[in-house]
Parts: sequence; structure tokens; C-alpha cells
Amino acid sequence: MAFVTYSYSAPVSQSLFDRAAAVTPGGVNSPVRAFRGVGGTPRFMVSGAGPYLTDADGREYVDLVCSWGPMILGHAHPEVTDAARRAVERGTSFGTPVEDEVALAEEIVRRIDPVEQVRLVSSGTEATMSAIRLARGFTGRTKVVKFAGCYHGHVDSLLASAGSGVATLGLPDTPGVTGAQAGDTIVLPYNDLDAVREAFAAHPREIACVITEAAPGNMGIVPPRDGFNQALAELCRADGALFVSDEVMTGFRASARGWYGIDGVTPDLMTFGKVMGGGFPAAAFGGRRDVMEHLAPAGPVYQAGTLSGNPVATAAGLAQLRLLAENDFAAHAVVDAAARQVRQLVGEALNKEGVAHTVQTAGSMFSVFFGDFGDAGVTDYAAAKQQESFRFTAFFHSMLAQGVYLPPSGFEVWFVSAAHDERALERIADALPAAARAAAEAVPA
Ligand SMILES: *Cc1c(COP(=O)(O)O)cnc(C)c1O
Repeated sequence: MAFVTYSYSAPVSQSLFDRAAAVTPGGVNSPVRAFRGVGGTPRFMVSGAGPYLTDADGREYVDLVCSWGPMILGHAHPEVTDAARRAVERGTSFGTPVEDEVALAEEIVRRIDPVEQVRLVSSGTEATMSAIRLARGFTGRTKVVKFAGCYHGHVDSLLASAGSGVATLGLPDTPGVTGAQAGDTIVLPYNDLDAVREAFAAHPREIACVITEAAPGNMGIVPPRDGFNQALAELCRADGALFVSDEVMTGFRASARGWYGIDGVTPDLMTFGKVMGGGFPAAAFGGRRDVMEHLAPAGPVYQAGTLSGNPVATAAGLAQLRLLAENDFAAHAVVDAAARQVRQLVGEALNKEGVAHTVQTAGSMFSVFFGDFGDAGVTDYAAAKQQESFRFTAFFHSMLAQGVYLPPSGFEVWFVSAAHDERALERIADALPAAARAAAEAVPA
């Protein structure tokens, strides 16, 4: 791939990246961080405060990644930081139950009606992997239905046609996943109910579960058509399969009660992560009591973790969820308003330069696709892949040079926080005209 060379440089980040590349594959510990989708030097960040990040070269950015979702109250929120600090001082891991894990589980169960019981884990990947195992153990069936462009973490059986970094890097299905693992996964086009009906007809009583992102964000935002999730729940029920709604990204972000708070569809199992960890490794899966009681030690399906329900992570996650709920979920209203304003500013700037695009939304989450997608917009992964990535690349680098840090891929959500105030939004507004012009002038590589 050929990329435009940008005149600004990041010498300290570049030297750190060179060191990293010698000791870590591709220089990063999670692929999308490497800027492979847009080219250039990934920025090594040294600190964050509210809506801002500062990199190793001393340059400040308005952050529209928010750690890919978790930092919904902004960076280094004093009360979240304080909760974590107090927990650290009491001891960082005991390998025993602690009260904050109970409190965090209660908080999730109280807010999300379909979740009667919940198990805490350390990453979204673990949550979906465990939910799939539980669905198989509960139903005694092997097959799993997933949708192209949905990302559920790097679980072997769920990497087929996955979104996020798999989409950014344009990888075919991943080496290292065996035929047996992939062979039990049925990949269907998103938003296509006929395809789901056909799968159930072709494999009656063989499908353990259908897993979907509640509202997909890992191919960019591609919201479910009206009634899609409800129909999935009904098709599963009719066949005796479980419906698993992955809310790792949408949970406690798309709305105060996640995507469930918007469409009200009742899944059998749900997964959470990102926001609920307050910037620490905490995630969860939960749902129907009779299903969850199949987990060890209550039941036979084994699942465990040395750091599951870690005292520091649960204290920080609990602090973040409680802060979000204060004053009738006032922070969510701020996130909503900030997201609305950024969407509007981006739309205006791109329209002014005549750049074809669509801004897609799911609750307070949104992303921008460059290209002409007609009235229907982007409804599945095949359409998402038609985006004009070369325009996004030019737009991204112009924003970066002007101090706005966007996700380094056109297949990702733009995340705002409750800390994105007028000053931060103004800095985004100031950067947009030049970035829109760069997008307009961009030519395919
Ligand atoms: C981020 C994400 C995951 C994976 O979570 P990790 O904590 O990165 O393992 C799973 N599902 C969805 C929908 C996600 O957005």
C-alpha cells in the first residue's frame, strides 16, 4: 500500500515504535494500534486527562478513541482514579471473593433486566468465549451462528469474517484456527433474516446459539434493521438455541442500559466489557439463571480466572458505573449531546467540500463511512467494505496533524466521553475544514 507522506513528524514515538518492533510482533500488543490501515507512525501516549491525550513528543490531542470505548467519563477521572488507588493500597489480588465483585455484579443485574446472574472475567474475548462454551454445554449442541463483520474478540470459533482489526488488515480467515473450530461456525450476512431462517432449516436442533453484536460497531456502525434482534430471539427460541447478545462495546455506552435500553429485546445470554471496567481489565457474561447455573461450581461447564473479579478492576468499574448513574444518568446525556454535535460538525464539513459520506448512528455511538451508499446506508459488511478508505486515510492524517486523534481505521466507531466539553468540541470543529478538504482531494493509492 502506498501512503501520502505527511510533513509533521513524531520522532520520540518513532524511536519507541522501532524499539517495540524489535521485541513485539508489528510493534504493538493489539493490531489496530499499529496504524496499518492508515500508514504512518503510531503515537505512543504518555498521559490522558479528560478528553485529551498527550503523546511522547509532547503533542496534545482531542481523543476520539477513548481507549476504544471504556473511557466514557474521560481520562483519569478523579473519582475513578481514586477508587482504583484506594483498592491498590488495600492489596491488588487475593484469589478470594471480595465485596466489590458482588457490588459490581449487583449493579449489572439491577440495570439489565435479562441478566439474572453474571460471571466476571477480565476481557470481552473471555466473556464471549465463555458464553459460547456455556451455550454449547447447556444445549448439548455444537454449531454457532455469527454475522460477517461482527467482532466478538479473538475467540477461535468467532474469528471467521470478523470485524475490527481483522477487517482493517483485510485478513482472510485466520491461520491457527482449525477446520474443526471454524467448521462449527456458520457465518451469515448481517441484517439478513432469510439467511438465518435458512441456517435453522438446514441444521435443525444443531445450533447451540446465535451470537451478534447488539448493534454492530466493529465494521463501523451498522445498526440492526427494525425488528432484527427480536426476530433472532424468536428464531432461536423456536429451535431451542440460545440468543447471545454481545454488548461488550454497546453496554453502558449506546445508552445508560446499553443497546438493551434502546431495543428492549431479551437475549438468553449477554456479554459486557469496555465501559464496565473503568479502563481496567473487567468484563462479564450473564443472563438467564437456569443457563448460568450450568457454570462451575454450580454446574458442570468449567470456567475460571486467576484475576477474575480483580479488586482493583472491580473498584474502578463500579465507580465508573455509579458515576454514570448519578443525577438520573446525567453523564449519558452529556455523551449523547457531544456525539450529536460531533456528528453534525463532521456532516457539515464534509458536505461543504462535496465529500460523499454517511454518518451512521446507534444510540450515542456513531461512525463515518466515506463513499455514496444511497438512502439505505451501510447495512452489512459487504457494503462497509465498499467505503473509500483512501479518503478516510487523508482525513485521518489531517485531523491527527491538527491534534485530533481518530480511530486509525474506517471500520471503527468514533468514541466521545462526558468530558468532551465546548473547548474540546471547538478544537474538533477547527480541524474539520482542512480534513474535509484533504478527503475531497484524496486519490486512490
Ligand atoms: C472489544 C470487543 C470484544 C472484545 O473485547 P476485548 O476486551 O478486547 O477482548 C468483544 N465484542 C465486542 C462487540 C467488542 O467490541
